[in-house]
Formats: sequence, structure tokens, C-alpha cells
Amino acid sequence: MSTKNEQLFLQAKKHIPGGVNSPVRAFAGVGGTPVFMHKAAGSKIYDTEDKEYIDYVGSWGPMILGHAHPKVIDAVKAAADDGLSFGTPTTFETSVADTICDIVPSVEMIRMTSSGTEATMSAIRLARGYTGRDKIVKFEGCYHGHSDSLLVKAGSGMLDIGEPTSQGVPADFAKHTITLPYNDPQAVKDCFEKWGDEIACVIVEPIAGNMNMIVPTQEFHNTLREQCTQGGAVLIFDEVMTGFRVGLRGAQGHFGIKPDLTCFGKIIGAGLPVGAFGGKREIMECIAPMGGVYQAGTLSGNPLAMRAGIAMFEDLTVDGFYEGVADKVTYLVDGIQATADKQGIELRSTKLGGMFGLFFVKDSETQVPQNFDEVTACDMDKFNTFFHGMLERGIYLAPSAYEVGFMSSKHSTEDLDATIKAAAEVFAEMA
Ligand code: PLP
Repeated sequence: MSTKNEQLFLQAKKHIPGGVNSPVRAFAGVGGTPVFMHKAAGSKIYDTEDKEYIDYVGSWGPMILGHAHPKVIDAVKAAADDGLSFGTPTTFETSVADTICDIVPSVEMIRMTSSGTEATMSAIRLARGYTGRDKIVKFEGCYHGHSDSLLVKAGSGMLDIGEPTSQGVPADFAKHTITLPYNDPQAVKDCFEKWGDEIACVIVEPIAGNMNMIVPTQEFHNTLREQCTQGGAVLIFDEVMTGFRVGLRGAQGHFGIKPDLTCFGKIIGAGLPVGAFGGKREIMECIAPMGGVYQAGTLSGNPLAMRAGIAMFEDLTVDGFYEGVADKVTYLVDGIQATADKQGIELRSTKLGGMFGLFFVKDSETQVPQNFDEVTACDMDKFNTFFHGMLERGIYLAPSAYEVGFMSSKHSTEDLDATIKAAAEVFAEMA
């Protein structure tokens, strides 16, 4: 990486811990110096020396229309001209709420926040307030933001109380979080058998995108729905990543499951800070000022974010939009997979809608990973070599084997062909 980039990183580290404002940006897993980007347009992102990269990170998901989409930029400029924040209700919030409730049948009411973390944290408080119960269930390898209850892993026994995964999370909080293996219907049944009437909610990434990409079985989702209904627990789909990404109705549309609450973020703000949680009217009415569950935010429903979102929804709801993005993903992933197969690289891939995962497995017997343990068993060194080889060739992938790729509607066939060609060159070096 360029000397200039290294200097920028050194400078950043002087007053910013680790030089970054979110840990995954630091290239900790893949090694090397993170690239400082300074502008982006369409499918491309540019570093401070104006080197161009084809971008498959898309700011970690929001940029499904590509960077600096003219309609979104115009909406944000117009919003800025009208004032940045009022701290009052606005018609823009109503418009975004109406749009989401019209599109996603399980969402009857919705509340905006400023991040995905706030959305999941608030949804959990709401589920606890609604049920009057304390315990929550989450799954190994799923990430739901960085609130205390959610930075917890499984205890020593599988059906045991959790342990904090971050310093600063009191064990007293973690003990209310049960962590189960992902994609394992029997573990869910056993958990409800043991804790049933104490469980406030189950929160799940309905398609996992924070342990690379895992599309779980229909049986897993059917079991979650059945067990929550029978046990009186709230089923929360964390669609912060998958919402409006894997399809217009998200992962719940794909599986035909109606969760009780859904969390959104990323895409609904088109690149501005945003989050939201919504669901059944009966549950949502428990939030202040209607009910006794407190939740608030100075910048919640910020007019810039709302007007960006409104502009973006116009394109997302055009017939064929998601099919177009999914076709690009299929073209890219099938192209990379075919190249890997030809060159004897043990690559496994997964894809749905505008999202894809690439796994470097250790032998020809190993299939696409189905849970966190199988993801961690992948060949991380191979991924790191692949990542840096692609970066050198101007392809910007997420700097971690635990992250996914995001496609935009602006990626062209030339972009996809250039990416497949780069992958072929890197595989040739790796073989
Ligand atoms: N939930 C999921 C599934 C996510 O992927 C993320 C962030 O990547 C979050 C929640 C947290 O969102 P935010 O980073 O906006 O707080």
C-alpha cells in the first residue's frame, strides 16, 4: 500500500483509537493498512490518490443504488437547504413509515432510530416490556450491533447462560442472554423446553451476514416461528442488513415468515445514519408515549435521512429492480466460482438478492458452511491472500472473511468481468 496511505493511518491513530471509528475498518484480520477513501460514484470508490476501486462493500450495505445516486443527492441537498433537524414530527417520517408498512406485511407500526444498534437494542427492551420477561435468545455468529445484551456468547454448556464477549459488559446482563448454534432447530426446541416461560424474545439474522453469508434452512425458520408462538416469546428478525437487500420484502419475504418485530437500518437511509424497528401494532403500542417502554432519539427520523430514504424507495419499488441486482450477483459469483473450480481452488459460494458470500474451505469434502463453527474452520490465510490480491487489482472487498459482498444496481457487466478476471489472476498465484 502507498506510503501516503500509511502516513494517513499513522496520523489517524494519534487521536482515534486504532485509527478507525469502527473496528472492522482497521484491516485487523487481513493485515496491512486500511485504504483511506475520499469519494465514490456509482460502483466505484476512490482513495486519496484517486486510485479507482470497484466497490463490493457499499458502506457495508446501504449503497444498493450505487454511490452518489443523483436522485438521492438531490433529495439530501434539498433537505439541507430546508434545515438539518427540527426535533418535531415531520411528514417525511410519516412517508417513510407508510412506505415500509405498505411493503412489509408484518410491520404495522414503525419507529425510527439513528442506527441499527439502537433499533435492535430498543426492540429487545420492547419485547421485554411487552412480555414482562427478561431472558433473550440469540445465535452464535449473528451480530446485532453493540448494545450490552447482545455482546454475549454461549456459556460453557450449550444450554447455559451467556458470557460477555466485550469487556465492560456486566455478567449480570449477560446472564439474561442465551446463545444457541445458528441453523439448528433442535437447539431452539431444547431451549424452549428448558427456559420456555422466561424467554422474552428470540433475535436472529434471518440470513446471516456477519459470519460470512449463511442462508439457513426453512425448517430453522419454521421452528423459530412455532416455538415463539407456543412459548409466548416475541420473534425479532434483525433485517438491518437483509432488509431491502435480499429482496423488496427482505429475508422474511424469502422464507414466508411473519416475525413479530423487525429491525431495519443501512438501506432505508441510503447512506445516512438511520435505523428503525417495527412490527405488530399490539406490541409497538407499548412504546412511549403510548406505553411504558421508553425509547427516544434527538436525531431519530432526521429529515436528511428520511428524504434520502424516500428518494431511494422510488427506485427500489420499480418492477424488476431486485431481479436486476440478483442477476448481477449470479453473474459475478458464478463467474468467480467457475474460475476457482477450473484452477483447483476450494471455494464455496452463496448468494441471494444483492448479497453474496465467498468461503475458502480447506478440502474438497467441505461444503458451504452452515453455522459459525464451520465458518471459523475455513482457511483464513487463503482469504487474506485473495483479499490483498484483489485490492491490488482495484477490487474493494470487505476486509474480513466474516463479512459478505454487496452488489449495487450500478455495477456494470464490465465491472463484473474485470472482477472475475482479477479473481482468476489471484487464484493463479494462489494455486
Ligand atoms: N444488525 C445487523 C444484522 C448488522 O449487520 C448491523 C451492522 O452491521 C447492526 C445490526 C448494527 O447496525 P449499526 O452499525 O447501524 O449500529
